[in-house]
This record gives sequence, C-alpha cells and structure tokens, in this order.
Amino acid sequence: MCGIVGYIGNKEAAPILIKGLHQLEYRGYDSAGIALLGSGCNEIKVFKAKGKVANLEEKVDAALSSESQQTSLTTGIGHTRWATHGEPSETNAHPHVSMSGDIALVHNGIIENYKLLKEQLESNGYEFKSHTDTEVLVQLIDYYYQRNGKQLVKAVNQALNKVIGAYAIVVMEKSNSNHLVAARKASPLVIGLSNDNTEFFVGSDATPLVEYTRKVIYLEDEQIADIYIGKDIEITNLDETSADITIKDVDLDISALSKGGYPHFMLKEIFEQPHCIENTMRGRIIMREDGLYEIKLSALTNFKAKLLRARHIIIVACGTSWHAGLIGKQLIEDMCRIRVEVEYASEFRYRNPVIEKDDVVIAISQSGETADTLAAIQLAKQQGALVFGIVNGVGSSIARESDTGIYIHVGPEIGVASTKAFTGQVTVLTMLSLALANAIGTISEEEFQTTCHELTQIPQKMEKVLEQNDTVENLSSMFTYARNFLYLGRGYNYPVALEGALKLKEISYIHAEGYPAAEMKHGPIALVDEEMPIVFLATHHQLYHKIISNMQEVQSRNGRIFAVVTEGDEDVKKISEQVVEVPNTLNCLVPLLSVIPMQMLAYHVAVKKGLNVDMPRNLAKSVTVE
Ligand code: GLU
Repeated sequence: MCGIVGYIGNKEAAPILIKGLHQLEYRGYDSAGIALLGSGCNEIKVFKAKGKVANLEEKVDAALSSESQQTSLTTGIGHTRWATHGEPSETNAHPHVSMSGDIALVHNGIIENYKLLKEQLESNGYEFKSHTDTEVLVQLIDYYYQRNGKQLVKAVNQALNKVIGAYAIVVMEKSNSNHLVAARKASPLVIGLSNDNTEFFVGSDATPLVEYTRKVIYLEDEQIADIYIGKDIEITNLDETSADITIKDVDLDISALSKGGYPHFMLKEIFEQPHCIENTMRGRIIMREDGLYEIKLSALTNFKAKLLRARHIIIVACGTSWHAGLIGKQLIEDMCRIRVEVEYASEFRYRNPVIEKDDVVIAISQSGETADTLAAIQLAKQQGALVFGIVNGVGSSIARESDTGIYIHVGPEIGVASTKAFTGQVTVLTMLSLALANAIGTISEEEFQTTCHELTQIPQKMEKVLEQNDTVENLSSMFTYARNFLYLGRGYNYPVALEGALKLKEISYIHAEGYPAAEMKHGPIALVDEEMPIVFLATHHQLYHKIISNMQEVQSRNGRIFAVVTEGDEDVKKISEQVVEVPNTLNCLVPLLSVIPMQMLAYHVAVKKGLNVDMPRNLAKSVTVE
C-alpha cells in the first residue's frame, strides 16, 4: 500500500513527483507529501496535505510560485499514504524528517518493532512529532548517520539491520542533493534510469516512470540502492555484499493509465473486459490448421512432470482473487479430478498447513505484491511445493518468487475495486484446467474442443452483457436506499455471489452478504423483508430449478429480487422485480459473464450515492502490508 516516488536529475522535481503521486494514488490516499532539495539549499523543503494528492498539488503550486526561487529543486521524494500507524493527518503524512533535519524519508510498509526502537531513540534524546512507525525509522537512520561520519548508505544499512517488518523506502540527505538511497523488503520498489546517469526515478511500481524511461531495475528484498547523479547505481545486500544488477525493459501502455473518456477507471475497466481477456488468451488458445484448438502454456510445458504428478493443489489468495480461486477449485476438480483447497493467504501463512512435496500451490494476486500471498508462497516453497503464480503485475514480487506461472495480461488496473483482473484470473484458471485435464486425460477431446471454442466466444458475449449497462444504471436507483443486500448463487455462480457482495461493500458502503442460495434457509432468510434487495444469479444451468424454488421462498417473504438470467428466460422474469440477461454459455464459463452485472450494479449504486468509486474510503489497491 501507499505510493512512493523519487527523482534526481536536471529538471524541477516537484511536478514530476506530483504527477507520479497522482498515478500511484490508487495505492493510498489518506494524505500526501513531498520533500525537495536543490544544490545550495540549506534545508529540506517539505510539503504535506491531508487527503488527496490534489490538495498537496494546490499547496505546492501556491508555495513555489510565491517564493522567488533562487535555486532549482531538482531532487525529491514523495508519498501518498495508506495509514497503518497514526491517524491520517498532516503530521503523520510522509516524508518524515529526522530531528536534526539532515535526513528525509518516505516509507511503504510497517516497522513492527517500532515501539522498542522508539524507546531506545528517546533515551538518546530523540523527540518525535508523529505517531507513525516511519518516523522511528528516519530517526534511527539519523542516529547511525551522525555516528558514522554521515555516510548515508551505511546508516541505512545499520538501521535496516535493526528493523523487523516490511519496507520500501527512499531516503535523501540535506548535505547532498545529488544523492538518493532506496531499499526494500517485502514491499515493491522500481528504479528507472536515463541512458547517461543524469536522471533517476523511483516508484512503487513502474507506472510513474514509463513516461521518462523504459530502463528499470526491480530492487530485490533486503537490497539497498545507492543512487548518485553521474554514477552507475550500486546495489548492496543487507549483509553488505554487493548485488548483481539486472536492467530490464519495461513494457507498459501509457494510454492504459488514463480514463479514456470514462468518468471513472472502474467503469473503463469494466468495459475493457472483452478486450482484456482476448489478451489473456492471445497466443495461448490456438486454432491449428486442422481446425482444432490447442492450449499452449509455457508454464505447463516447463513443469509438466511435476504438475501432472500433483494430487493436491492449494490455491492461496485474498479478496477478489480468492473468489477467482473458488471458481478455479471447481474448474480443476471438475475437469482434472485433482483435489483443490482454496485458502485465505493471511490464514494459511500462520496456521502450520499441511503441504506435501508433490503439492502445487497456486498464488493469485492482481498486483503480484499482496503481502500475505507472498508470505504464503514463501512458506510453500520452504516445504518443497511447486509454486505457480497467476498475477497481473509483470515483474512483481510474486511473479519473481514463483517457480512458474501465467500472467493474466489485462493491463494496469487502477480502480480499487477489481474487475478486469477477476475475469482475467478466471480465464487463466479455465485455460490451465483445460490444458491440465487434456494432458492427464480426464477430459474427452470433444469436451476440450467445445470448452475451448466457447471460451473464445466469451469476449463477444461479454459485449452483449455490457450493452445492458443503461438498464443496470436505471434499476440501480431503486436500490440506493438499501442498507443490506443478499447475493445468492449456486455452483459456479456461488463465488460470483460472493464477488458481487464484495464489490457492493467496497464502493457503495452498503452491507452485503454472498451465500450459496440453498444455505439461505439456514439463517439469512430471517433478514428478508420488503426492504431487502436480493440478487439472484439464476442462469440456466445446473441447479436452475432449485434456484427458482429459492427465489420463490424469498418472493413469499416480500423480498425484492434482482436476477441475472440466461437470455430468453421467462420463468425467472415472472418472480423477479428486475432482470439482466446474459448470453447462454457453458456452465463452467458462466462466471465470466454473470459477474459483469454484479460489477455494473455496484458501480451505479455507488455513483448514485455520490461516492468516490475509484478510491473508496479505507481501501487501497495493492495490499502490501499484512
Ligand atoms: N506505516 C506507515 C504509516 O502508517 C506507512 C504506511 C504506508 O505504507 O502508507 O505511515
């Protein structure tokens, strides 16, 4: 969580930092701040504002335009915060400056032993202004800095060796405006470089860098980068050994970072889904010259023997990715006849799970940086399991830690509520199940061919669902009053019910619960009255007639039914107040269509309530703290 930027070069740093913070704002938006320095400056200039980056921008513009600027401020660090320790306030906002004024720092993560370190620093005369764990780190660096002849890299190293927790940091020193130091452990950090070492950029991800450079270094865990104008970057490990440097080319479509005419990123991303999952399938589902489909996944070719041997698969994920995992369980069990468990990564990592050597652990994460999922796969690796990553973030920590995996390739997802990443993940899980089942021989050739063909038809069927956006928008006004929603589905639509409820909670702040429809009788039915909207996923598949009975039970208690049905369905229409139709497809592919009305409903309810859909309160996009 939180977004970090850094710049040193020959341009004014402030506009570059502010623009970068806007691009990273999806990661946190409690408060924002920048620290600036130029040659000849006798102090680090810090600007902070509570709330969005726009508030900071206003403040910085006003201050810098009113000052008669003698020196240009060409060095800086910036931060958009998702508070973990200390309320969102200007004082707690980053950058934090050490008591001596010599050092400023931005930090993403949590310093777990901050209390003990703070006490030790206080006994050495350090005074604190904020309630953050981060201020402890900047003072600790300062403590070593003052005692080691003001060598910044060394001081950072000494401090980080005392720290327990997770961090991505960028540090600057007052005495040298040509110098930044960056370090990470369990939180991502990317460094961008110009060809001639005249400019360097730092970011929590590559988004704010790509406008200036495509050459990047992904910092590894427990590495410290010494960034100096005019010199090659030097990277050392926490044990002070020097580290190898790999410069990579980053490939990111800048147009994907703008709203492209849509009022919100979320709506844009909902509408991008047909195109996105075409990208997910590109080069992977192939029609051969004989007219038959084939699935090519390099991840499967490289680890074929191990994957074919697996009798037990554990899927670890959080949030929306966990819902995709539940669909993955059904797909793999249905097609491959392999036992699958789906675990919350945050529970799995701490509960001594049984992991056998031949097990496969599939980690699903949009960003590829989810702290709990990362820790879960580290545990799985220690126990000898094969780790298979399904992520969107190219070059992300989970991608790098996994033995193998498949990128979902849906492009940057900026809206905090995940949409296109979900359908991308489900598409990958479908291809994986099909390819595995085909290799093991648990699926007939006919079923394989039909499912591949139907999967390739999903993008155009998604377009038909999206055509009903206006219908969903109109009917959403009927539901904005509601304080509780129930989402019900069965089979493949049960995880979609969970996902629908999560979307609504995330962005419209209405309490919602997802349930397997038949479970309703065991409790939730007591909540049903004429005030209660109930969303039924009632497509024409397995258990269709049973779900109609469940709907009748609700109707008899005056519940207000909104249903997702298969095109042409007449029976459900009779018992529902509102319906949205999705084209017919195979049972196992239904979630790819039925989830879209869930996303649209949550979006329109939130917009009607006047809420900030792309940046819902208390949330952040990439959960890099546990
Ligand atoms: N723990 C730090 C704080 O609360 C950093 C949080 C973040 O990653 O934004 O200020």
